[in-house]
Amino acid sequence: MKFVDVEELETKTRLLPLEEYIELLEITIRKWKTRPLMLGKSSSPTEEDSKLFSVLWSLGTRYVPIADHTDEMKLEVSLDELDVFHNVRGNPVRVYDSVVSLVAGDLPTPLVKLKSLSNSKVRVWAKLEWYHPFSLSIKDRTAWYMLVNAIKTGYLSSGKTIYEPTSANTGLGLVGLANYYGLKIRVYLPYTTQKCMDYVFATMGAEVVRKNVPITTAKVNSVLLEAARDGAVVLNQFENDLNFIVHLKYTAKEIDYQLRSVGVKPSAIIGGLGTSGHVSAISVYFKNRYENVKVFAVQPSGESSIPGIRRVETGMKWLRTAKIDKVVDVSLEEAFQGIIHVARKDGILIGFSGGAVIYALNELIESGEVEGDVVAVIPDHGVKYIELMQSLLTKACPDAPYSG
Ligand code: PLP
Repeated sequence: MKFVDVEELETKTRLLPLEEYIELLEITIRKWKTRPLMLGKSSSPTEEDSKLFSVLWSLGTRYVPIADHTDEMKLEVSLDELDVFHNVRGNPVRVYDSVVSLVAGDLPTPLVKLKSLSNSKVRVWAKLEWYHPFSLSIKDRTAWYMLVNAIKTGYLSSGKTIYEPTSANTGLGLVGLANYYGLKIRVYLPYTTQKCMDYVFATMGAEVVRKNVPITTAKVNSVLLEAARDGAVVLNQFENDLNFIVHLKYTAKEIDYQLRSVGVKPSAIIGGLGTSGHVSAISVYFKNRYENVKVFAVQPSGESSIPGIRRVETGMKWLRTAKIDKVVDVSLEEAFQGIIHVARKDGILIGFSGGAVIYALNELIESGEVEGDVVAVIPDHGVKYIELMQSLLTKACPDAPYSG
């Protein structure tokens, strides 16, 4: 049996129908090994080999096993032998030849133990996702993976304009990358996004269209229609499976790799729901890789609006295939309490969806629903939400100096 570098075979990658892909993916993660492929034998691989190759590609193995003899097809090879963690091990000296490598290679993002939520029964590990260059958020991963693959496949070529509905972060990731690659971009922001984001996008050179509605499926469809009319390209984070795959291949695997390095197995992981990309990928990865890992998700309660996260009933593609133990409702004010809790005890300023995650996790800890080692995904940094913080501080303390 020989091992072939995945990059040599990338053109054979095909995205399968989601249900079929997830089924094969789950089996591969559960066994943590795979059978060899016969890809080297002929120019057109069998359908089964092609499917398995897609799964190994999306898990980010460096190699795929290729069999020369039928007997070898019976052997199975561990994913560790295929160097599954090669892409999340990072570069110790952190010197890069382009800003794109800051998303693609400055990994893993930090995982830090929070003293503000840890006690004798629980240790909380925060995955700090603002360590990305463009949007200072987890959404750089999505923007990068969708955009770079669209360029690779020819879907996005020079002269094309990108249209993208976004609450801000995916748009910021895309505008950074679009500028690097010399592409034009228009972002469609909902009314709930802070006004100051318009200035950020203007500075970056993106066109901003403000819509007086939240981001819903109907809204995304209207952008798709506008793009079709204008010959523009929508990468569509809500439907593009690469937004799930990037969190499987990187975010989830990084957490696994980082926890293993300190000899820890997670008892629970918690994150916020926007497109559901990162929570769904984490759920599929960890629930198949280890037994008894709980996955919790956070959504805004009732009419609350929390930047970056939405309610499940607004429609989330990958959540259908993922197992979530509980969805916790958090209001904007509670999310702010989560921010303040971490800010005043650990000294770091997290964003509002991170605040919602922390608030929900604190409730789960206090009710005894979680203990052991728990990972909280913190999507971005609080400095981006000054306008929102000002309005909440003003409401809470109208006489304070900052109410201004
Ligand atoms: N938090 C913030 C700040 C975000 O911008 C987003 C998505 O835009 C999320 C959370 C949700 O992430 P996902 O789209 O992976 O569900």
